[in-house]
Amino acid sequence: MGKALIIGAGGVGRVVAHKCAQNPDVFEEIIIASRTLSKCDELKKELDGGKTKVHTAQVDADKTEEVINLINRFRPDIVINVALPYQDLSIMEACLATKTDYVDTANYEPPEVPKFEYKWQWAYKEKFEKAGITALLGSGFDPGVTGVFTAYAQKHYFDEIHYIDILDANAGDHGYPFATNFNPEINIREITAPGSYWEGGKWIETKPLEIKRTFNFPEIGYMDIYLLHHEEIESLAKNIKNVKRIRFWMTFSQKYLTHLQVLQNVGMTSIEPIEFEGKMIQPLQFLKAVLPDPATLGPRTKGKTNIGCIFRGIKDGKPRNYYVYNVCDHQECYKEVGAQAVSYTAGVPAMIGAMMVLTGKWKKPGVFNVEEFDPDPFMDALNKNGLPWKEDFSPEIFN
Ligand code: NDP
Repeated sequence: MGKALIIGAGGVGRVVAHKCAQNPDVFEEIIIASRTLSKCDELKKELDGGKTKVHTAQVDADKTEEVINLINRFRPDIVINVALPYQDLSIMEACLATKTDYVDTANYEPPEVPKFEYKWQWAYKEKFEKAGITALLGSGFDPGVTGVFTAYAQKHYFDEIHYIDILDANAGDHGYPFATNFNPEINIREITAPGSYWEGGKWIETKPLEIKRTFNFPEIGYMDIYLLHHEEIESLAKNIKNVKRIRFWMTFSQKYLTHLQVLQNVGMTSIEPIEFEGKMIQPLQFLKAVLPDPATLGPRTKGKTNIGCIFRGIKDGKPRNYYVYNVCDHQECYKEVGAQAVSYTAGVPAMIGAMMVLTGKWKKPGVFNVEEFDPDPFMDALNKNGLPWKEDFSPEIFN
C-alpha cells in the first residue's frame, strides 16, 4: 500500500521500524534514516528477509534541504518523525515542500528554551491545508494514546468530560543507580521544568514536582505520582469541550529523585553553555554523554509500565467515572523488538498513526492532534499491535 520514511533510529525508531515490518500490507517499503547511518543499517539487518523492503540513509534533519533531498530520492507517502523534538519544524518544512504527509510523537521545543508548546506546529495548519497534506502531531503514547483514549471516552461514554487525570507509571528496574528510560536530555528537561495543569480555562503553574499523590496501579501496585506539565494537556484543553481540569502524573522513585536533586544542585542539568578546556559545552548534554544510553537498558529492564486516563463527567445527566489503561511488560517488549516498554509504548502508536493516515482513515488536509479523529480504528489497532487496553468503570478517585 505505501512507503514510509522513518527519521530517527533510537529507541523509538527501532520499535517503529519493527512494527511497520510486522504490517507489510500497509508498509510495503520503509526507509530508516538518521544522523548515524550504522544504527539504521543494524536495524535493516534485523528486518531484511521479511515482506517489507527496507532501505537506509544518512540525514541531518536539522537541515530542511537534506530532508527534502532524501524525500525526493525515495518518494515516501509519509514521514514518521521519531528523531528529537528539535527537528519537528525542519521536517515539517520538508514535508510541505514535497507535499508529503507527516507524523510525530513529541511537540517542537526550541533547543535554547526548555518550553514545549504546540503553537509553532499549529501555526502550519493553513499551509498544510493548502498543500492538501496531513500532519498528525503527538502520536506516541503520552501524548498520543492518551488523546485517543480521551476521544474514545467522549465518543462512547460521556456527554461531558469534566476531569481528566493522565497517569503514567513505570515500575521497570534496570539495575543502575540512575539512568533515564528515554533520551536523558529530553527526559531531564521535562522533569526539572515547573509543573502545570489546566483548570477553569487557564494554566495553573506549580514548582517542579511540587504536587505528589499515591496511586494503586493495576498489575503494579502503589506508587508515588508527581504532577508534571505535559503537552497533551494543551491540545486536550482546546479540543475537549466543557473540560474543567486536566492533570498529568508520572511515577518517580525516591532514589531517582535524590540523584536528580544532586545533579541539579551541582549544575549538571543546566542547558546554559559553559566553557570547559577552551570549548563551550552544555552541562545537560555532557550529562547525557556519561549516563547509560537508553538503548542499552532494554536487556536489563524488568517490570511493567501502566499508562492510562481516568475520566470523570456526566452521561444522561448522571455522574460517571471511567479508567482506561494499557499495561506493558519490559521484557516481553525486548524479546519482540529489542527495546524496553518506554520505547515500545511510544513506537507502536507512531506506527499506528502512520497506518491511519496511509489507509485513509485519518487522512485530511491540515495539522491535527490525535483526539480530533475517530478513535475506534486506532483503538482496534492498539489491540492488534501489542498494546491492548483495559477498562474500569469504578476506578480509585483522588483529588
Ligand atoms: P533517542 O535519543 O534514542 O533517538 C533519537 C534518534 O534521533 C537517534 O537515532 C538520533 O540519531 C536521531 N537524531 C537526533 N538528531 C537528529 C538529526 N538532527 N537528524 C537526524 N537524526 C537525528 O530518542 P528516543 O528514540 O527515545 O525518542 C525519539 C522521540 O520520541 C523523541 O522526540 C521523544 O521525545 C519521543 N518520545 C515520545 C514519547 C511519547 O509517548 N509520545 C515517549 C518517548 C519518546 P543519532 O543516534 O545518530 O544521534
